[in-house]
Amino acid sequence: MRYLVISDIHSNLEALQVVLQYHDYDQALMLGDIVGYGANPEEVVQLVRELRPVATVRGNHDKVVAGLETGDVFVSHALAAALWTRQQLSVESLQYVRDLPVGPRQIDAHISIAHGSPRDEDEYLFPYHPKIAVFDAFSTRICFFGHTHIPTVFYQTGEATYSGHVESPLKLTLNLEYSRYLINPGSVGQPRDGDPRAAFLVLDTNTSTAEFFRVDYDIQTAQRKIREAGLPDFLSERLARGV
Ligand code: ZN
Repeated sequence: MRYLVISDIHSNLEALQVVLQYHDYDQALMLGDIVGYGANPEEVVQLVRELRPVATVRGNHDKVVAGLETGDVFVSHALAAALWTRQQLSVESLQYVRDLPVGPRQIDAHISIAHGSPRDEDEYLFPYHPKIAVFDAFSTRICFFGHTHIPTVFYQTGEATYSGHVESPLKLTLNLEYSRYLINPGSVGQPRDGDPRAAFLVLDTNTSTAEFFRVDYDIQTAQRKIREAGLPDFLSERLARGV
């Protein structure tokens, strides 16, 4: 089985369209934050629905856009975008976002998915801060997560834990007999590791490999649409820098 793993699309249609030109997979997993920040929430929700991911979880932006949370913990540009997004979505798309499942979720004997972390859907797991306790919060060999927008691998072998930022592209062979993994594929629509290209990952369960991809997309069009929508300038500007 080959899983396409995508996260943090954030209404960036140009980025998602390029990622979905990749076809060498069987099933898709979506780790939350479909919407928020970008200018094409309706189109992006529709594309995700057409993709029919075998499993999804909701993200913190999805919750605020859906009205499940007020967004009072958001910085101003994030809240402005979330409230704007709510106005843009069709009734069906808003319902889809509202109905996204709460994470974390175990999807089979080997794989779990979460937005923030396997112990709290809103927790940030940044690279280089190994948190051994997080490995106690899930029981599978692999847990995929998003939320930080930084491609990251944590692994645990016995008592030792390692974590690091992943310089993509990278094909990582997983040692599933001895190690357990927390893996962030990076963000499709708003990368924050200084590399502005869209990020995604493919897990191959036959070869036990996790392959991190980065792809160029039309950043200037995504930026122009954000400006034309009247959304905060910072949201447009950051896409070119990948921050
Ligand atoms: Zn996000």
